[in-house]
Amino acid sequence: MAKRVTGPEIEKLIQLLAKVPGLGPRSARRAALHLIKKKDQLMGPLARAMGEAHDKVKVCSRCGNVDTIDPCTVCTDDRRDQSVVIVVEDVSDLWALERAGAMNAAYHVLGGTLSPLEGVGPEDLNIRTLVDRAAEGDVREVIIAVNATIEGQTTAHYIIDQLAGLDVMITRLAHGVPVGGELDYLDEGTLSAALRARTTI
Ligand code: ZN
Repeated sequence: MAKRVTGPEIEKLIQLLAKVPGLGPRSARRAALHLIKKKDQLMGPLARAMGEAHDKVKVCSRCGNVDTIDPCTVCTDDRRDQSVVIVVEDVSDLWALERAGAMNAAYHVLGGTLSPLEGVGPEDLNIRTLVDRAAEGDVREVIIAVNATIEGQTTAHYIIDQLAGLDVMITRLAHGVPVGGELDYLDEGTLSAALRARTTI
């Protein structure tokens, strides 16, 4: 067994950092050392920010987004078109779409995808709340923006079935050639989806 080089507090910090996505044990050690060297400028403010976020973070009861207020900032933003709801798998997708800045709409975060193999059924996702929201009458369009995976598409089909009969337009993301993308570099799934989603010119 390797000899210890730090006390248990630093060891624990490294172990916890290593559980953060994108950080392995090696990066965690580097991050921990950086934090220690920047104790006052970075480690202190980070610890306080984490404590505050931990105490205040909550899931929006309307859309499933995470925020410190409920309903969340997106749901209470009256400069958004709240009658258009973009359905995403995860909060990270909401953030990605917001970074893209293409739409000024509301969102609904499913919290995952249907996966019979992993035992994830409709009741485990925020689908019921989406249907209720659409049935209230204030929603005119639901844009299904789930990932182009088998699970994502299965989930999309299920949601489309659930929304059938409501007075709501349902649209989906087109899957296609990325801007600047060269055909040669695309995987077959993207290429065939782009072909299927072709438009007349
Ligand atoms: Zn919300």
